[in-house]
Formats: sequence, structure tokens, C-alpha cells
Amino acid sequence: MAVQTVAGNTTSSAPAVDLGPAAALSCRECGERFELGPLFACASCFGPLEVAYDLPTGSPEELRKRIEAGPDNIWRYAPLLPVPADVAEKPNLNPGFTKLVQADNLARELGVTGGLYVKDDSGNPTHSFKDRVVAIAVEAARAFGFTTLSCSSTGNLAGAVGAAAARAGLRSCVFIPHDLEQGKVVMAAVYGGELVGIEGNYDDVNRFCSELIGDPLGEGWGFVNVNLRPYYGEGSKTLAYEICEQLGWRLPDQIVIPIASGSQLTKIDKGFQELIKLGLVEDRPYKIFGAQAEGCSPVSAAFKAGHDVVRPQKPNTIAKSLAIGNPADGPYVLDIARRTGGAVEDVTDEQVVDAIKLLARTEGIFGETAGGVTLGVTKKLIEAGVIDPALTTVVLNTGDGLKTLDAVSATSQATATIKPSLDAFRAAGLVAG
Ligand SMILES: *Cc1c(COP(=O)(O)O)cnc(C)c1O
Repeated sequence: MAVQTVAGNTTSSAPAVDLGPAAALSCRECGERFELGPLFACASCFGPLEVAYDLPTGSPEELRKRIEAGPDNIWRYAPLLPVPADVAEKPNLNPGFTKLVQADNLARELGVTGGLYVKDDSGNPTHSFKDRVVAIAVEAARAFGFTTLSCSSTGNLAGAVGAAAARAGLRSCVFIPHDLEQGKVVMAAVYGGELVGIEGNYDDVNRFCSELIGDPLGEGWGFVNVNLRPYYGEGSKTLAYEICEQLGWRLPDQIVIPIASGSQLTKIDKGFQELIKLGLVEDRPYKIFGAQAEGCSPVSAAFKAGHDVVRPQKPNTIAKSLAIGNPADGPYVLDIARRTGGAVEDVTDEQVVDAIKLLARTEGIFGETAGGVTLGVTKKLIEAGVIDPALTTVVLNTGDGLKTLDAVSATSQATATIKPSLDAFRAAGLVAG
């Protein structure tokens, strides 16, 4: 393995910044290592960089006890994350440890007998899974001395960055496609940072941000999903850790994960692998399934065609939080789905709406469109015999339905509107028998 390009030592003994067990950045393609810094692409082969660790030594029992004694948020896993040891004492939104709901009603409806669980990340501080990734990026931004927090966003990330920056005392300036849902625009603006609508889709916004990073205009800016992306991505591992801990330190047999850029899916796999390596869970096979909306399904299309490359698409779907037509981690998602014996599938907008209502009706959980995509794909794959109903299955709900009310507002209205009298109520025909 080639070692390092930047001056200094890349081993753990003398890291330039204190990000706890994070030792270096390493290229996912060629393995070259770099000092911890605001880098995201390999200087040699342009491959994406990942955080490499000095993971804790000692017995799995000790580590498990240490984690269980930690706070009820992602910082209980601080020994496995690129954050300083005293992270829990700093102003941060402290997301995570959201509910893993045993979804027996939904299981009955779908014919699942092996145990069905919904990991409900709508319970995070800004009501989506994005608080996890941003919490880690904030620590990296602090370590590298950035004073402005920024991102390109499909909506949820902008809100998570705005809120986290407010709490951390940083300035924020975030970029979104101009035509997002009102709920997401308001949630991104209310925290008082700058919010800029770009006339274009997410891929245009992302391209704009890449240009801004290379320009003096963007100096001192930490873009959580661009120049802080290696750190940001690690936040998704906490979903894997929590699910296993909540299942009693056990891997699920099957998990269904939505795909936007594909970062979340690849890092959940990384999280499972780390738990196996550390001896915190038994090493047994698990299958990872990816979910997309038909109107933005570049990874699903490549999976079904047996391709290794992902051909970009122009998104057109109500699942705007997943509307990335050129997903950065697409090829890695394909690798993981194939390696674990999983699959990538997509559903129509109509199926997304049906699935949102199915989850609400059976379990009292109102998910956003991304949750509808994930449950819709789960249902489709069960019906196709691809997901085994006799095995333990976890489905992610990554966001709150209040942010995407438009998806269901046409078909979710008052059953009746009546005068305040018993006669009128009787006449409405709502009383059984
Ligand atoms: C961002 C997002 C995802 C997944 O994003 P990746 O880019 O694939 O990591 C899933 N669900 C919601 C609600 C999101 O906002």
C-alpha cells in the first residue's frame, strides 16, 4: 500500500487534529493514505476517501459495556467514530438512538413471520436521518477551523445543517433546488442561516457547490457532504450500530435502505463489518436491499441490467429527498447488494403514497416519501419472493411525513364535515351497526 503524500506522519501516534480513533483518510480505490483534513478525493486516482481507524483493542465484553453505559444518542459509539473523546460535552444536537419499532401489524399485513422492524429516524432533532451525518461533520468542521457550515441538499440536509450550525455557534449557508416542498424550505430557513435556492435540480446544486469550494468565495467553508464527506458519511454507521444493539447485539438477516447518493447504504454495511470485526456481533450472513423511486432509479436500473456503472438520470419523482440522478456511491451500492445477496428495486410514486399510508395505518408512523419508497420496495420484494418473509427484516424510515404533506394531502382529509349536532353525526353514517 502506498503511504501518504502530505508532510507528516499518517500513523495514529501523531495525528494533526484530534478526531478520536480516526487515524487517517484512505482511498477506497487504491488504498493510499492521507493525513486527516478536509479532503474528499484521492490525489493519485481521484477515488473517494474514507476514514481509517485505530479501533479499540480489548475484549468485546468491555467495549459493549462501555457503549451501553454511554449517552442515549450517537455519542455512545464515540470509540468507533471520527470525533474527539469529549464530544458529548460540546454543543451539538446529539441525534440518534431512535426507536426500533417491532412492526407486528405491518408484518401480518405483509405476511412476514421472521420479525419485522421499522427503524424510525423521524425521531431525530430535525426529523430525518441527516442529523446523524451532520453531527459528525460539525466535529470535523471544528477540528479544521471552518467557521461556515454549508451543503448541497435535497432538503433534509439543509435543515439539519442549519440547526446544527445554530447550536454549534457556526454560520451556515446552504443550497437547495428552488422547487422543494414548502415543509423542507421552511425547516431549512427557520434556524436563521442563509438559504439559497438554485434554479436547477440537485445535481446542478452539487456541481455549483464543487465550483464554490475551489473558489476564494468558499474559503473557510465546510461543505458537510463535499469537503467533509468522508467524516459526514461515518454518521450513517450509527444506524447499523443502533439496529444491532437494539436487536440484542445481533445482525438483522435483511435490511432495506433508501438510496439517494448511496452513502447511507454503503456506511451501514461498513458499520456491520466493523461490529463483526470487533466481535460485538456474531458473524453471520446479512442481505442489504436498496430502494429507489422509479422516477429517479439510476442504481436500480444498473442493478437490474447487470451493469457495474450507473448511468445518470434526470429525476422526476415525489420522493425529492432521494432525487439524485448521478449518485456518487452508486457503484459501491451495486457491489454491496450483489456481495450480500441483496437487490436494488424501485417503485412508482403511486406505490410510494400507498406505502406511506400503509405504515401510518398499521403502525402509527407517518413517514416521508423516502420512507414510502423503502416500504414500497420492501413490499414489492416480498411479493416477488426476493425478500424472505421467514427472516428478520429491518426497514428504515428516514424522515418525517410532516415534511412531505403534499404526497398524501389529496387523499388524507376529514372523513366528514358536519354541524355540531348528534343528528348530523348520525346522518354522516360513521357509527357502526
Ligand atoms: C438523504 C436522505 C437519504 C439517503 O441519502 P444518501 O445520500 O443515500 O446517503 C434517505 N432518506 C432521506 C429522508 C434523506 O434525506
